[in-house]
Amino acid sequence: MGSPQFLNSPKTFVVDAIRGAVASSDDLRWHSEPGYLTRRESLPRGQVALLSGGGSGHEPLHAGFIGQGMLTGACPGLIFTSPNALQVRAATESVDAGAGVVHIVKNYTGDVLNFTIAEKMVAENGIAVEQVLVDDDVASESDDGPGRRGTAATVAVEKICGASADRGDDLATVAEFGRRTADNARSMAVALRACTLPGADRPSFDLPDGEIELGIGIHGERGTERVPGMAASELVRRLIDPVMASLGLGDGERVIVNVNGLGATHELSLNLLFAEAATYLADKGVTIERSLVGSFVTALDMDGASITLVRADDAMLELWDAPTAAPGWPNAPSRTFREVPGGIEFRAPIADEESTDSIPDSDVRLGRPAVGRWIADFAEKVLAEEPNLTDLDRKAGDGDFGTNMVAALEHVDIARIREGFALPTVFETVSDAYLGHAGGTSGALFGIWFRQFYRAAVDNPDGLDRSALATAARAGMEAIMELGGARPGDKTMIDAIAPAVSALEGATDAGLEDALRQAAVAAADGAEATRESTAKRGRASYVGEASRGVVDPGALVLAWFFESAVGTRSR
Ligand code: ADP
Ligand code: MG
Repeated sequence: MGSPQFLNSPKTFVVDAIRGAVASSDDLRWHSEPGYLTRRESLPRGQVALLSGGGSGHEPLHAGFIGQGMLTGACPGLIFTSPNALQVRAATESVDAGAGVVHIVKNYTGDVLNFTIAEKMVAENGIAVEQVLVDDDVASESDDGPGRRGTAATVAVEKICGASADRGDDLATVAEFGRRTADNARSMAVALRACTLPGADRPSFDLPDGEIELGIGIHGERGTERVPGMAASELVRRLIDPVMASLGLGDGERVIVNVNGLGATHELSLNLLFAEAATYLADKGVTIERSLVGSFVTALDMDGASITLVRADDAMLELWDAPTAAPGWPNAPSRTFREVPGGIEFRAPIADEESTDSIPDSDVRLGRPAVGRWIADFAEKVLAEEPNLTDLDRKAGDGDFGTNMVAALEHVDIARIREGFALPTVFETVSDAYLGHAGGTSGALFGIWFRQFYRAAVDNPDGLDRSALATAARAGMEAIMELGGARPGDKTMIDAIAPAVSALEGATDAGLEDALRQAAVAAADGAEATRESTAKRGRASYVGEASRGVVDPGALVLAWFFESAVGTRSR
């Protein structure tokens, strides 16, 4: 048994999907005899029609590019199987508006044969057809054999021909634009994981852990080279170099760049690849005129991407920019490419005021030295425990807690916390780091927690005695409860804080050190007790019973906060 799929039956997969495509678009009609798609609206008499088609599984290609300004119709085959000649013949006759039909054909033997046979059949009825062959995939370049496969460049051909036909160009002109685009387009693809056919129980090829496959096609076929995974910047070179070589592309030339997802690749990843590609092309002196980033020519659920370069002139760019109503084309295509911007980062300043007066430790107060050690020790402890914290939140939450802690604390200067910053700044810098650099619930709540200690330090310029610490902790607890709505027993940091607050407040007769020790023990016990409860707050609350048996990581960190204060004056 493989992974479950969205499927009624492998046999009906394509028609079931077409039903949805037709139902969800304004301008798409299915013709069951013998099976093709056209626009609902007929073309104005005398306009050149555009027909494409090929195996299904590459959506949005082709059905998604049917619409004004792109295709007039498309013949879908079964998954990764070319349509047959009778489909193409009927579709050609249906879309012809008296000015002839351009067939846009990806270079595979089955596709070429069936389109060519249909072309000959409709010629008998006086319909003029021009075939534009798309053969962009450089991985399949060879001196003999069927030649380069047709892949992602098909979208560019459909767009440029579509705009040419839409503005009223004649058959020869539309076809000439198509051939010019195809001749000047090359692609190269990489897969991180192969696709799984509907109903199959495993991907069409297996990749060993850590390896990727270069030069793959769009039908789940193996690639040309299997290599260890590499940085995206390096990978992009491996894709672009053969594309540039095949095009003979050099310094000063102008291109359209398409970074295309193969079905299961996230938009963020495609954007990252585009940034790398653009940077590399800039190094090579190639000018990017337009960009297209997204998933346009897919191979079912393959995890991978292709890069297509199209050498472009002004006439082609004008057609590229023309509007289209085809649903698969981005509504806001990028126009002139500017540059990959530098300086994209998250920047949040954090407090760094130097100490000007020494506030000594005393029997009853934590002064500058003790507070510095306390918070520096705490930060080091949390950073060191990141893997364990992540693991706890993964078991009983969503797994981001450790990352959130590191995101904050990697921005604080622990050496200056220990010795350097003014006493209130020690707390303020940590608060700023949590509020400004961590995300999630914990970033906000820890930020608020440390803010109360910062206030206490400002209000108590001689250092923090037991009562000041108790006041700060209570204020922190109340702020967290008010903001987050947690109550004791909800399996949150409150379960460590509440007992510590009671201990601090109750230890009126104890010395400072004893009070701190009691608070630390109470917090640790409170954290440990969270093991037995289920979470009622935070993302951990979504996992219900699964959180039982796992200590709440937020409570654990609060327990370390109190433990780190113990013994800081005596060293
Ligand atoms: P999220 O729960 O949003 O993924 P984090 O993983 O950043 O947040 O932090 C989880 C920790 O935050 C938990 O261990 C818990 O101690 C604490 N927490 C979550 N929700 C609350 C809340 N409403 N009140 C107090 N603490 C909370
Ligand atoms: Mg979490």
